[in-house]
Amino acid sequence: MFDYKAAFQTAVEQVRTEGRYRVFADLKRVQGRFPLATRRREDGSEQDVVVWCSNDYLGMGQHPSVLEAMKSAVDESGAGAGGTRNISGTTRSAVDLEAELASWHRKEAALLMTSGYVANEATLTALQRIMPGLIIFSDSLNHASMIAGIRNGGCERHVFLHNDLQHLETLLAAAPADSPKLIAFESVYSMDGDIADLKGTIALAKKYGAMTYLDEVHAVGLYGETGAGVAERDGVLDGIDIIECTLGKAIGVMGGYIAADAVIVDAVRSWAAGFIFTTSLPPALTAGALASVRHLKAHPELRAAHQERAETLKQRFAAAGIPVMPSESHIVPVFVGDPVHAKMISDMLLEDHGIYVQPINYPTVPKGTERLRFTPSPNHDDGMMDALVTAMDRLWTHCNVARMPRAA
Ligand SMILES: *Cc1c(COP(=O)(O)O)cnc(C)c1O
Repeated sequence: MFDYKAAFQTAVEQVRTEGRYRVFADLKRVQGRFPLATRRREDGSEQDVVVWCSNDYLGMGQHPSVLEAMKSAVDESGAGAGGTRNISGTTRSAVDLEAELASWHRKEAALLMTSGYVANEATLTALQRIMPGLIIFSDSLNHASMIAGIRNGGCERHVFLHNDLQHLETLLAAAPADSPKLIAFESVYSMDGDIADLKGTIALAKKYGAMTYLDEVHAVGLYGETGAGVAERDGVLDGIDIIECTLGKAIGVMGGYIAADAVIVDAVRSWAAGFIFTTSLPPALTAGALASVRHLKAHPELRAAHQERAETLKQRFAAAGIPVMPSESHIVPVFVGDPVHAKMISDMLLEDHGIYVQPINYPTVPKGTERLRFTPSPNHDDGMMDALVTAMDRLWTHCNVARMPRAA
């Protein structure tokens, strides 16, 4: 008979052999003290750590207005949503949140989903059902959730070289002029920290009659006058047909959504299995996200502080000869170049210095480009930065990892 246990053991062994077996840090976030957390070691002992790799980019996960909204929602409406949106799961704060999100992105409508992953997967699959014969043009570094949705729909797809508009144009030009087309891309790519050319992509979409689908997961809350993302910053909200985002990163809670013309949202609402057949977000999450979005819209100084912290950390690493990779955004990636050193440095930062940063290894990034990825927030103060740069400097010497020339 089939040896089931062996199959699972082999699968885990394979991951170990490839050096991508993950051990999660057991952390308890400390409300009111972000980015501090308490780590529990395997022996049960505890350690205070500074988290340097959170996607709660602005610390909104502990903002008093968000916490207050979530607590009142529990008191007023209880725990769960009670069903799918079709069957009993539409709550008032979900409706209000969708209206707020739509106006944020200057679209007619928005549709909540249970996560950013689900929003990408469900929407991209549904678009292929809505428009049979759709041809999708997908950036080579798109997130796994977009790839899943694109594959799941089964339509023709072409992958263009990352941020390479010339390659994209070659592919668009080769497709039949009258076929429906969709360009799927991200604004901020979170592993390298580079930003797509939105204007250029939109121009190509217009020229070849394609729709645009933009993942602003790592930009919403962080860019643009009101924090609506890079499309707002670049003044091209109108040129993007479908914007996809998360409520789990800068917004600090959990969930995902799309924003688009009313008819697009209506069609996705009616066709996307990943929206229809799943219990909707609980009132506490939608109320918390609503409070967070309202706060983010009105507080550009948070975005300025966030950019300042990222810029300062990049400069401080560079001054110490730590090989910070070129990044146009708030992401601060540091090049290590092999998985063993990346893990070793990350382990030593945690155990010896109380600094938590996750190594980023294959398959998230190509082999040979393993790195540490820092995400400083407005809550990371100068003292924390001093401790980080000092520890990194020591470890770079200790592990004999390549440096870059020290800035003069
Ligand atoms: C994290 C992420 C998602 C998924 O969002 P979740 O809300 O965490 O499911 C989608 N796209 C990109 C680019 C991401 O980094």
